[in-house]
This record gives sequence, structure tokens and C-alpha cells, in this order.
Amino acid sequence: MRTTQLIELDQKHIWHPYSSITNPIPVYPVERADGVIITLKDGRKLIDGMSSWWAALHGYNHPRLNQAATEQLSTMSHIMFGGLTHEPAAKLSQKLLEILPLELNKIFFADSGSVAVEVAMKMALQYAQASGQKNAKKRTKFATIRSGYHGDTWHAMSVCDPVTGMHGLFNSSLPVQYFLPQPSVKFGEAWRDEAILPLQELFEQHGDEIAALILEPVVQGAGGMYFYSPVYLQKARELCDRFGILLIFDEIATGFGRTGKLFALQHAEVAPDIICLGKALTGGYLTLSATITTEKVATVICEGEAKCFMHGPTFMANPLACAIAYESINLLLESDWQANIKRIERQLIDELAPAKHFKSVTEVRVLGAIGVLEMQQPVDLISLQKLFVKHGIWVRPFGKLVYIMPPFIISQTELTQLTSALLQALKIAYNE
Ligand SMILES: *Cc1c(COP(=O)(O)O)cnc(C)c1O
Repeated sequence: MRTTQLIELDQKHIWHPYSSITNPIPVYPVERADGVIITLKDGRKLIDGMSSWWAALHGYNHPRLNQAATEQLSTMSHIMFGGLTHEPAAKLSQKLLEILPLELNKIFFADSGSVAVEVAMKMALQYAQASGQKNAKKRTKFATIRSGYHGDTWHAMSVCDPVTGMHGLFNSSLPVQYFLPQPSVKFGEAWRDEAILPLQELFEQHGDEIAALILEPVVQGAGGMYFYSPVYLQKARELCDRFGILLIFDEIATGFGRTGKLFALQHAEVAPDIICLGKALTGGYLTLSATITTEKVATVICEGEAKCFMHGPTFMANPLACAIAYESINLLLESDWQANIKRIERQLIDELAPAKHFKSVTEVRVLGAIGVLEMQQPVDLISLQKLFVKHGIWVRPFGKLVYIMPPFIISQTELTQLTSALLQALKIAYNE
């Protein structure tokens, strides 16, 4: 297909994430992607700063992941999971059990991050109803913190920040949940006890209406790219236990090393009752998610009225996705990933530091393989993106946030190219 024809068809008929189809913003046709390089159809090569939204840890077109996919393809790419099972799901489960906190050992595979969050919320509701707690039927609400993002489906939307979470339009038809202020102690700051008071007060007043507290541990992603103190998670764990409320960690963005730990919960050494994984689970190859809970929660659910957990997607535990996920986790664990992410972190700290002096930038934050520039004003996405592409990098800002989270395989030279092109483009855009 000719590129002009492709673009015309795309602009006329195909939705993109959060896009207008009557007034579409430019899209860049991609020919292929290898390692950290995205090659556009016109031959331009871009260094990838996004890992396709937290997912492509090992870069693109990785021989080991390709091989896992091809081998699985030749036996079975999908089979229903109702009444049948298979080795890719079993092997992936075994691998997840090895790397997750011991108590998280009952695994539900679903198709996307948002669905993993829906599943977690349904688990919490079924648990509350079956738990025999006083007022069990009243426990129908969820608590969360401001600036969170948990996905685009219905109940996941209800726990996204009502303003920055991109779903304000639907507020009137979404279930109303309890929102707490964003944890006021930032990552790396000394803990102050007042930061947990809002949560404590909420639980004291409304604890018996709340089925679960849902949090993105340590790093809030699409709702604000904010890093907060792991002590908040320890205090939240204590309060959840005291008030009989389940704790859900949404590690869909933070899982698999991105923050410098395999899972962000390890910064706090706290285990939730339910964890959601997605995005990097398959190394960015296919959509797959997992919601994992404890024996205790699973048992209460399955001994309740329904005698089972009420969810079952058509493509549950898709063998192709499971086989690739298994290989992707192996690849990560075989690498010296901790030292590697430290290397990326150090380089991001050094190379993004000059942006602290830009008038247009209010804060520079780095944690693990995530570098964030918070701008004074929301950026002009179209013109900034054009500049980035012109400078040979792929970075997609949103709102006031310009951020990079490259594949872990990025070399020192490539990362320097990425950060310097980023700062160069911003200098031009903002006359710095
Ligand atoms: C991306 C994301 C989701 C939603 O995942 P999808 O696969 O896009 O449905 C949920 N929670 C967090 C923290 C995310 O970053």
C-alpha cells in the first residue's frame, strides 16, 4: 500500500487512542521496529523513548521472543480455557509464583490491563459479600488516591482521577468512589505521619462501606507520573488490615523492573491482597494481563454464594501470549537487570538535569528507567511531536508531562542521543 493511501485510509476511518476522527492529529506510519529503533515508512529512524507505553522492555523484534512466538504458533495459538489447560499457562504461572510475594498465588489471566483491574475489583466485591463481615452487603465502594490511572473500562474509570484521569466526561454515570489526596511525601523524602491521616480518617468514617483500596504503588503513571514514598504503602497496609479492607496494587505500569525493583511493592516490602499485572508482561508483544490474589481471598470468594469467581474472558490465558510472557520474564531475569536499570537511572539523572534550569520546566524527576519533565503549561502535542520526530526520537507527551521510559536494552550512546535530542527540541520549542 502506498503511504499516502495508508494515511488517507487511517485518517478517514480509524480511531487512535483519545483521538478525533473528524479533526485527526498527524500519525506517523511505521515500517518496522528493531531493538530501540522505530523505522518510519519514509525511512526516518527514531530512537524509542516510550517502550510502546511501558511494554517493550527488551526492545522490538527480539530473536528470543520471536522464537517463542513461532514455536507456540506451530502448535496452537489459541484454545479456550474453559475446561482445557496448557503448558504455556502453567509455565508462566510457575514463573510468576517464583517472582511474586509468596502469599500471592491464585492467578487469573485476562486480556488487558483494564480488564485485570475490573477483575480485581470484582474479586474485592465478591470477597466482601462472602466474608461474613458485619454489613458485608454495604461494602460496595472503592477508595483510591488522586492522580491515579487504572484503565479505560467502566469500573477502572471510576477509580481514575476525575480530572487528570481522562474520564471526567463520564463522571455522572460512573459509580462514585472515595478519592484521597495524592500522598504528600514524595519518593526519597523523609516520611511525615500526616501524609496518611486522610486515609485513616476516611476509613474511620466510611471504612465499612469500602471493599478495597486500589493504588499504583510508588509510581503513578498516566494520571500524573508522580513518585511517592513507599512508607505510604506500609501505612496503607496496616490501615487496610485494621479496617478489614482489601488492598489492591495496580502494577500494570510498574511491574517487571521499570522502577528499579522487579515490582514496585518491593520498595515498601509490602504485599497487597490482589495485584494486577499487564503491559510489560509479554515484553510488549501481545496483550495479556494477570490478576493475582491470596489463598485467603480466593477461598472466601469460592465458598461464597456463587461458589466460584464470576469472570471468564474468551481469550483467557491465550497460549501465544503466555508463551511469549514466559520467555520475556526469563530474558529479564537472565540479564543483570538491576545494574542495568541503575545505569539507565544514573544517566537519566545526569542528562536530564540541565532541564531544571529551563523556564518552561517546573520539575525533573527520575526513578528507575523513567525520566519525567513536568512543564509549566500543557504542551502543544502536535508541534512538539513533530520536533521530536525531526530530532530522531519517539516521545509522546501528555498534558504537562514530557517523559521517557526507554526499552531496557538501550545503549549508553542511544540514551544520550535520546536525552540530548529531547532537550534540544524543548530548547527550540520554548526558546530556552
Ligand atoms: C495502562 C494501565 C492500565 C490499563 O491497561 P490497558 O492494557 O491499557 O487496558 C491500568 N493501570 C495502569 C497503572 C496502567 O498504566
